[in-house]
Amino acid sequence: MGIGNNMEKGVAPANELVDRENRHLNYLRISITDRCNLRCLYCVPEGRIPKLDHDDILSYEEILRIVNIGIRLGIRKVRITGGEPLVRRGVYDFLRQLTRIRELEDVSLTTNGVLLAPNAQRVFDAGIRRINISLDSLNREKFTHITGYDQFVKVWAGIERAREIGFDPIKINVVAMRGINDNEILNFGRLSLNHPFHIRFIEYMPIGNSRTSSRDQILTPEIQDMIATIGELIPVGNGQNDGPARRYRIAGAQGEVGFISALSHHFCNRCNRLRLTADGKLRACLLSDRHEPIKEVLRNGGSDEQLAEIFRTAVRQKAAKHQLYPNGVTTVKGQMQGIGG
Ligand code: SAM
Repeated sequence: MGIGNNMEKGVAPANELVDRENRHLNYLRISITDRCNLRCLYCVPEGRIPKLDHDDILSYEEILRIVNIGIRLGIRKVRITGGEPLVRRGVYDFLRQLTRIRELEDVSLTTNGVLLAPNAQRVFDAGIRRINISLDSLNREKFTHITGYDQFVKVWAGIERAREIGFDPIKINVVAMRGINDNEILNFGRLSLNHPFHIRFIEYMPIGNSRTSSRDQILTPEIQDMIATIGELIPVGNGQNDGPARRYRIAGAQGEVGFISALSHHFCNRCNRLRLTADGKLRACLLSDRHEPIKEVLRNGGSDEQLAEIFRTAVRQKAAKHQLYPNGVTTVKGQMQGIGG
Protein backbone atom coordinates (compact mmCIF):
# COMPACT_ATOMS: atom_id res chain seq x y z
CA MET A 1 0.00 0.00 0.00
CA GLY A 2 1.42 3.42 -0.85
CA ILE A 3 0.83 6.52 1.18
CA GLY A 4 -1.18 8.05 -1.63
CA ASN A 5 -4.21 5.97 -0.69
CA ASN A 6 -6.99 8.07 0.78
CA MET A 7 -4.64 10.99 1.21
CA GLU A 8 -5.74 14.47 0.41
CA LYS A 9 -3.50 16.86 -1.39
CA GLY A 10 -2.01 19.55 0.76
CA VAL A 11 -0.60 17.48 3.63
CA ALA A 12 2.97 18.58 4.00
CA PRO A 13 5.87 16.39 2.84
CA ALA A 14 8.03 14.08 4.97
CA ASN A 15 10.42 15.21 7.73
CA GLU A 16 7.96 17.56 9.30
CA LEU A 17 8.15 15.88 12.65
CA VAL A 18 11.19 17.72 13.96
CA ASP A 19 10.80 19.20 17.41
CA ARG A 20 12.30 22.19 19.22
CA GLU A 21 15.26 20.07 20.29
CA ASN A 22 15.89 19.17 16.66
CA ARG A 23 14.88 15.58 17.28
CA HIS A 24 13.54 13.85 14.17
CA LEU A 25 10.53 11.86 15.33
CA ASN A 26 10.29 9.07 12.80
CA TYR A 27 9.26 6.19 15.05
CA LEU A 28 5.66 5.41 16.03
CA ARG A 29 4.92 2.78 18.68
CA ILE A 30 1.35 1.56 18.57
CA SER A 31 -0.54 -0.20 21.34
CA ILE A 32 -3.29 -2.13 19.55
CA THR A 33 -5.05 -3.39 22.68
CA ASP A 34 -5.07 -2.81 26.43
CA ARG A 35 -5.88 -6.51 27.00
CA CYS A 36 -3.22 -8.90 28.14
CA ASN A 37 -3.03 -12.59 28.97
CA LEU A 38 -0.51 -11.90 31.77
CA ARG A 39 -0.69 -9.67 34.85
CA CYS A 40 2.89 -8.65 35.50
CA LEU A 41 3.57 -7.24 38.97
CA TYR A 42 5.20 -4.11 37.62
CA CYS A 43 2.58 -3.38 34.98
CA VAL A 44 -0.83 -4.20 36.46
CA PRO A 45 -2.36 -3.13 39.80
CA GLU A 46 -4.06 -5.31 42.40
CA GLY A 47 -7.65 -6.39 41.69
CA ARG A 48 -9.72 -5.95 38.58
CA ILE A 49 -8.65 -3.38 36.08
CA PRO A 50 -11.24 -1.67 33.93
CA LYS A 51 -11.02 -2.78 30.30
CA LEU A 52 -11.63 -0.44 27.44
CA ASP A 53 -14.81 -1.15 25.48
CA HIS A 54 -14.39 -2.46 21.97
CA ASP A 55 -15.63 0.90 20.63
CA ASP A 56 -13.01 2.80 22.59
CA ILE A 57 -10.21 0.97 20.83
CA LEU A 58 -9.01 2.16 17.47
CA SER A 59 -9.97 -0.18 14.66
CA TYR A 60 -7.19 -1.48 12.41
CA GLU A 61 -8.55 0.71 9.63
CA GLU A 62 -8.27 3.77 11.86
CA ILE A 63 -4.75 2.85 12.91
CA LEU A 64 -3.71 2.41 9.29
CA ARG A 65 -5.10 5.81 8.41
CA ILE A 66 -3.12 7.39 11.25
CA VAL A 67 0.02 5.51 10.21
CA ASN A 68 -0.38 6.76 6.65
CA ILE A 69 -0.70 10.35 7.84
CA GLY A 70 2.37 9.82 10.02
CA ILE A 71 4.32 8.46 7.07
CA ARG A 72 3.44 11.51 5.06
CA LEU A 73 5.01 13.59 7.84
CA GLY A 74 8.14 11.48 8.30
CA ILE A 75 7.32 8.28 10.26
CA ARG A 76 9.50 5.45 8.92
CA LYS A 77 9.45 2.92 11.70
CA VAL A 78 6.56 1.27 13.57
CA ARG A 79 6.44 -1.12 16.52
CA ILE A 80 3.27 -2.98 17.45
CA THR A 81 2.74 -3.53 21.15
CA GLY A 82 -0.04 -3.59 23.76
CA GLY A 83 -1.42 -5.01 26.14
CA GLU A 84 -0.58 -8.22 24.39
CA PRO A 85 -0.84 -7.65 20.64
CA LEU A 86 -1.26 -11.34 19.80
CA VAL A 87 -4.55 -11.53 21.75
CA ARG A 88 -6.25 -9.12 19.37
CA ARG A 89 -8.28 -10.82 16.65
CA GLY A 90 -7.10 -10.06 13.13
CA VAL A 91 -3.60 -9.06 14.21
CA TYR A 92 -1.80 -11.15 11.56
CA ASP A 93 -3.68 -9.55 8.66
CA PHE A 94 -3.05 -6.17 10.23
CA LEU A 95 0.69 -6.86 10.49
CA ARG A 96 0.69 -7.92 6.85
CA GLN A 97 -0.99 -4.65 5.85
CA LEU A 98 1.64 -2.70 7.75
CA THR A 99 4.64 -4.54 6.34
CA ARG A 100 3.29 -3.95 2.82
CA ILE A 101 3.56 -0.20 3.27
CA ARG A 102 6.53 0.64 1.12
CA GLU A 103 7.59 3.72 3.04
CA LEU A 104 7.96 1.89 6.35
CA GLU A 105 11.57 0.81 6.71
CA ASP A 106 10.96 -1.22 9.84
CA VAL A 107 7.88 -2.87 11.36
CA SER A 108 8.49 -4.84 14.55
CA LEU A 109 6.51 -6.52 17.31
CA THR A 110 6.75 -6.72 21.09
CA THR A 111 5.03 -9.73 22.67
CA ASN A 112 5.05 -11.63 25.92
CA GLY A 113 5.46 -14.81 23.86
CA VAL A 114 2.60 -16.79 25.43
CA LEU A 115 0.86 -17.24 22.07
CA LEU A 116 4.01 -17.22 19.98
CA ALA A 117 4.87 -20.91 19.49
CA PRO A 118 1.71 -21.76 17.51
CA ASN A 119 1.65 -18.38 15.74
CA ALA A 120 5.27 -17.45 15.07
CA GLN A 121 5.04 -18.65 11.47
CA ARG A 122 1.99 -16.42 10.92
CA VAL A 123 3.90 -13.45 12.32
CA PHE A 124 6.84 -14.25 10.03
CA ASP A 125 4.58 -14.77 7.02
CA ALA A 126 3.03 -11.38 7.76
CA GLY A 127 6.47 -9.92 7.03
CA ILE A 128 7.77 -9.29 10.56
CA ARG A 129 11.46 -10.12 11.08
CA ARG A 130 12.37 -8.24 14.25
CA ILE A 131 10.68 -9.40 17.42
CA ASN A 132 11.01 -8.48 21.10
CA ILE A 133 9.88 -11.02 23.65
CA SER A 134 9.45 -9.97 27.26
CA LEU A 135 10.72 -12.52 29.77
CA ASP A 136 11.65 -11.61 33.31
CA SER A 137 12.53 -15.03 34.68
CA LEU A 138 14.02 -18.29 33.45
CA ASN A 139 12.50 -20.09 36.40
CA ARG A 140 8.98 -21.44 36.04
CA GLU A 141 7.83 -20.64 39.60
CA LYS A 142 9.35 -17.17 39.54
CA PHE A 143 7.79 -16.51 36.14
CA THR A 144 4.41 -17.49 37.60
CA HIS A 145 4.96 -15.17 40.56
CA ILE A 146 5.86 -12.20 38.34
CA THR A 147 3.21 -12.68 35.65
CA GLY A 148 0.40 -14.35 37.62
CA TYR A 149 0.25 -17.26 35.14
CA ASP A 150 2.14 -20.54 34.81
CA GLN A 151 3.12 -19.91 31.20
CA PHE A 152 6.91 -20.06 31.22
CA VAL A 153 6.99 -23.28 29.19
CA LYS A 154 4.87 -21.72 26.46
CA VAL A 155 6.97 -18.57 26.31
CA TRP A 156 10.20 -20.54 26.08
CA ALA A 157 8.68 -22.70 23.33
CA GLY A 158 7.74 -19.46 21.55
CA ILE A 159 11.32 -18.20 21.76
CA GLU A 160 12.68 -21.48 20.39
CA ARG A 161 10.14 -21.48 17.60
CA ALA A 162 11.00 -17.89 16.68
CA ARG A 163 14.64 -18.92 16.45
CA GLU A 164 13.88 -21.95 14.25
CA ILE A 165 11.82 -19.82 11.90
CA GLY A 166 14.60 -17.27 11.55
CA PHE A 167 13.49 -14.04 13.24
CA ASP A 168 16.52 -11.81 13.52
CA PRO A 169 17.18 -10.27 15.89
CA ILE A 170 15.27 -11.90 18.72
CA LYS A 171 15.47 -9.49 21.61
CA ILE A 172 14.57 -10.64 25.11
CA ASN A 173 13.40 -7.79 27.33
CA VAL A 174 14.12 -8.24 31.02
CA VAL A 175 12.83 -5.73 33.57
CA ALA A 176 15.31 -6.09 36.43
CA MET A 177 13.84 -5.75 39.92
CA ARG A 178 15.50 -6.03 43.29
CA GLY A 179 14.40 -8.97 45.38
CA ILE A 180 12.29 -10.25 42.49
CA ASN A 181 14.57 -11.38 39.68
CA ASP A 182 17.94 -9.81 40.48
CA ASN A 183 19.34 -13.27 41.26
CA GLU A 184 18.74 -14.17 37.60
CA ILE A 185 20.62 -11.31 35.99
CA LEU A 186 23.73 -13.44 35.53
CA ASN A 187 21.71 -16.32 34.07
CA PHE A 188 20.17 -13.96 31.54
CA GLY A 189 23.63 -12.62 30.66
CA ARG A 190 24.94 -16.17 30.24
CA LEU A 191 22.04 -16.99 27.94
CA SER A 192 23.66 -14.71 25.38
CA LEU A 193 26.82 -16.87 25.40
CA ASN A 194 25.32 -19.85 23.58
CA HIS A 195 22.25 -18.29 21.96
CA PRO A 196 22.04 -15.54 19.35
CA PHE A 197 19.56 -13.60 21.51
CA HIS A 198 19.92 -9.94 22.35
CA ILE A 199 19.21 -9.72 26.06
CA ARG A 200 18.08 -6.23 26.98
CA PHE A 201 17.98 -5.20 30.61
CA ILE A 202 15.36 -2.51 31.13
CA GLU A 203 15.27 -0.28 34.19
CA TYR A 204 11.97 -0.55 36.00
CA MET A 205 9.97 2.66 35.57
CA PRO A 206 7.27 3.56 38.07
CA ILE A 207 4.31 4.15 35.76
CA GLY A 208 0.61 4.19 36.64
CA ASN A 209 -0.69 1.76 39.26
CA SER A 210 1.20 -1.45 39.79
CA ARG A 211 2.33 -3.70 42.62
CA THR A 212 5.93 -2.50 42.53
CA SER A 213 7.62 0.79 43.27
CA SER A 214 10.91 2.65 42.98
CA ARG A 215 12.40 0.66 45.83
CA ASP A 216 12.40 -2.34 43.45
CA GLN A 217 14.54 -0.50 40.92
CA ILE A 218 17.97 -1.74 39.96
CA LEU A 219 19.84 0.72 37.84
CA THR A 220 22.02 -0.09 34.85
CA PRO A 221 25.44 0.50 36.45
CA GLU A 222 24.74 -2.22 39.01
CA ILE A 223 23.38 -4.64 36.39
CA GLN A 224 26.28 -3.94 34.08
CA ASP A 225 28.83 -4.58 36.84
CA MET A 226 27.21 -7.95 37.47
CA ILE A 227 27.24 -8.88 33.78
CA ALA A 228 30.89 -7.81 33.47
CA THR A 229 31.83 -10.60 35.90
CA ILE A 230 30.88 -13.12 33.16
CA GLY A 231 33.43 -11.76 30.71
CA GLU A 232 34.74 -8.67 28.98
CA LEU A 233 31.95 -6.45 27.63
CA ILE A 234 32.81 -5.46 24.08
CA PRO A 235 30.79 -2.49 22.81
CA VAL A 236 28.67 -3.08 19.70
CA GLY A 237 27.90 -0.11 17.50
CA ASN A 238 24.26 0.93 17.24
CA GLY A 239 22.56 0.35 13.91
CA GLN A 240 20.02 2.68 12.39
CA ASN A 241 17.02 0.81 13.83
CA ASP A 242 18.47 0.22 17.26
CA GLY A 243 16.89 2.67 19.64
CA PRO A 244 18.33 3.62 22.99
CA ALA A 245 19.96 0.38 24.20
CA ARG A 246 23.68 0.51 24.92
CA ARG A 247 24.83 -2.73 23.35
CA TYR A 248 27.68 -5.10 24.18
CA ARG A 249 28.83 -8.58 23.37
CA ILE A 250 30.31 -10.63 26.19
CA ALA A 251 33.67 -11.83 24.82
CA GLY A 252 33.07 -15.04 22.84
CA ALA A 253 29.26 -14.81 23.01
CA GLN A 254 26.89 -15.59 20.14
CA GLY A 255 24.35 -13.06 21.29
CA GLU A 256 24.44 -9.63 22.89
CA VAL A 257 23.48 -7.84 26.05
CA GLY A 258 22.04 -4.33 26.08
CA PHE A 259 21.02 -1.83 28.72
CA ILE A 260 18.06 0.53 28.50
CA SER A 261 18.52 3.16 31.15
CA ALA A 262 15.51 5.46 31.04
CA LEU A 263 16.19 6.63 34.60
CA SER A 264 19.90 6.42 35.32
CA HIS A 265 20.94 7.72 31.93
CA HIS A 266 18.19 9.68 30.25
CA PHE A 267 18.29 9.23 26.50
CA CYS A 268 15.70 11.93 25.85
CA ASN A 269 18.09 13.89 23.66
CA ARG A 270 18.08 10.95 21.21
CA CYS A 271 14.39 10.07 21.56
CA ASN A 272 12.75 9.72 18.15
CA ARG A 273 9.44 8.26 19.37
CA LEU A 274 5.79 9.04 19.31
CA ARG A 275 3.17 6.67 20.76
CA LEU A 276 -0.35 5.88 19.68
CA THR A 277 -2.35 4.45 22.58
CA ALA A 278 -4.96 1.72 22.24
CA ASP A 279 -7.72 4.26 22.86
CA GLY A 280 -6.48 6.66 20.23
CA LYS A 281 -4.26 9.23 21.89
CA LEU A 282 -1.01 10.47 20.49
CA ARG A 283 1.68 10.76 23.18
CA ALA A 284 5.01 12.42 22.63
CA CYS A 285 6.66 10.93 25.73
CA LEU A 286 6.12 7.64 27.55
CA LEU A 287 6.85 9.36 30.84
CA SER A 288 4.48 12.30 30.46
CA ASP A 289 0.70 12.13 30.47
CA ARG A 290 0.34 14.90 27.92
CA HIS A 291 -1.45 13.58 24.88
CA GLU A 292 -3.43 14.63 21.86
CA PRO A 293 -6.84 13.01 21.31
CA ILE A 294 -6.56 11.86 17.71
CA LYS A 295 -9.45 9.34 17.81
CA GLU A 296 -12.13 11.97 18.37
CA VAL A 297 -10.94 14.03 15.41
CA LEU A 298 -10.80 10.92 13.26
CA ARG A 299 -14.31 9.81 14.23
CA ASN A 300 -15.77 13.26 13.80
CA GLY A 301 -14.83 13.18 10.14
CA GLY A 302 -11.49 14.97 10.53
CA SER A 303 -9.56 15.60 7.34
CA ASP A 304 -6.06 14.30 6.71
CA GLU A 305 -4.78 17.81 7.28
CA GLN A 306 -6.54 18.01 10.67
CA LEU A 307 -5.02 14.68 11.65
CA ALA A 308 -1.60 15.84 10.47
CA GLU A 309 -2.01 18.91 12.65
CA ILE A 310 -2.45 16.64 15.68
CA PHE A 311 0.90 15.05 14.94
CA ARG A 312 2.45 18.50 14.71
CA THR A 313 0.89 19.57 18.00
CA ALA A 314 2.17 16.45 19.76
CA VAL A 315 5.64 17.14 18.39
CA ARG A 316 5.50 20.76 19.58
CA GLN A 317 4.56 19.51 23.05
CA LYS A 318 7.36 16.98 23.39
CA ALA A 319 9.32 17.94 26.47
CA ALA A 320 13.09 18.27 26.16
CA LYS A 321 13.51 15.79 29.01
CA HIS A 322 11.26 13.57 31.11
CA GLN A 323 11.03 14.21 34.82
CA LEU A 324 11.41 10.74 36.28
CA TYR A 325 14.56 10.11 38.28
CA PRO A 326 15.95 7.09 40.15
CA ASN A 327 14.03 6.46 43.38
CA GLY A 328 11.55 9.15 42.48
CA VAL A 329 7.80 8.82 42.78
CA THR A 330 5.79 8.40 39.64
CA THR A 331 4.08 11.31 38.03
CA VAL A 332 2.73 9.18 35.20
CA LYS A 333 -0.92 8.23 35.60
CA GLY A 334 -1.35 6.30 32.35
CA GLN A 335 -1.20 2.50 32.53
CA MET A 336 1.48 0.73 30.54
CA GLN A 337 -0.99 -1.72 28.91
CA GLY A 338 -2.76 1.10 27.11
CA ILE A 339 0.37 3.05 26.24
CA GLY A 340 2.44 0.09 25.11
CA GLY A 341 5.85 0.57 26.70
N1 SAM B 1 2.56 -7.65 26.17
C1 SAM B 1 3.74 -7.28 25.46
C2 SAM B 1 4.97 -7.67 26.21
O1 SAM B 1 4.86 -8.17 27.34
O2 SAM B 1 6.06 -7.50 25.69
C3 SAM B 1 3.81 -5.81 25.05
C4 SAM B 1 3.39 -4.76 26.04
S1 SAM B 1 4.45 -4.54 27.42
C5 SAM B 1 3.65 -3.19 28.23
C6 SAM B 1 5.87 -3.82 26.68
C7 SAM B 1 7.11 -3.83 27.52
O3 SAM B 1 6.96 -2.92 28.59
C8 SAM B 1 7.47 -5.17 28.14
O4 SAM B 1 8.80 -5.51 27.79
C9 SAM B 1 7.36 -4.92 29.62
O5 SAM B 1 8.29 -5.69 30.34
C10 SAM B 1 7.66 -3.44 29.70
N2 SAM B 1 7.16 -2.80 30.91
C11 SAM B 1 5.91 -2.81 31.40
N3 SAM B 1 5.84 -2.11 32.55
C12 SAM B 1 7.09 -1.63 32.78
C13 SAM B 1 7.67 -0.82 33.79
N4 SAM B 1 6.93 -0.36 34.79
N5 SAM B 1 8.97 -0.51 33.70
C14 SAM B 1 9.73 -0.98 32.68
N6 SAM B 1 9.24 -1.73 31.68
C15 SAM B 1 7.94 -2.06 31.73
